[in-house]
Amino acid sequence: MDAEDEVNTEESVFVMPGDFVGTTEEFRAGNGTYVNVADIHSLSTGYVKIDRKSRTISIVPQTSTPPQINEGDIIVGSVVNMRESVALVEIGAIKGKGEREFQTNGAAAIHVSNVKDSYVKNLGQEFSLSDVVKAKVINTQNMRLTTDGKTLGVMKAFCSRCHSGLEKDDDRLKCPECGRVEKRKLSSDYGTGLI
Ligand code: ZN
Repeated sequence: MDAEDEVNTEESVFVMPGDFVGTTEEFRAGNGTYVNVADIHSLSTGYVKIDRKSRTISIVPQTSTPPQINEGDIIVGSVVNMRESVALVEIGAIKGKGEREFQTNGAAAIHVSNVKDSYVKNLGQEFSLSDVVKAKVINTQNMRLTTDGKTLGVMKAFCSRCHSGLEKDDDRLKCPECGRVEKRKLSSDYGTGLI
């Protein structure tokens, strides 16, 4: 087998955070992607890359310099775990530093006290698994994030009943397929893909 058969990449499809790129039936989810049920989505802005041999789909970000995360940085990531007082976020991109994949030691955390400027009783009313969120880094020692701010919060979310992409409807989200209404701490950039 020659080298061309082993790795066949396609980098012509341009995607943004939250975009659907394939299914777990077809592919393994590689760098720069996350899985929502059986669907693979992009975590960053870039091009789709498919390794035919390992059947891995990943996203090649637009820049080539590995970024450092600093306090005050705006990041975009996916909610990978929900606990009672903390939402854990896998960081996919840093604003203004390119969107190349990079290594973090575990997920970053949004504590219930850092969601917004008012009291949050139930974190499940603010975030849900697989949401794409935009957040600001407030502590790099233990990777703490905040979503307090107009443009910060959920950028893309999926229906908890039918997994369709939810659409903004005033200050709530509505499912265009099944009509379910859900609440989130929304970014003013919801649905735009803007970082
Ligand atoms: Zn639905």
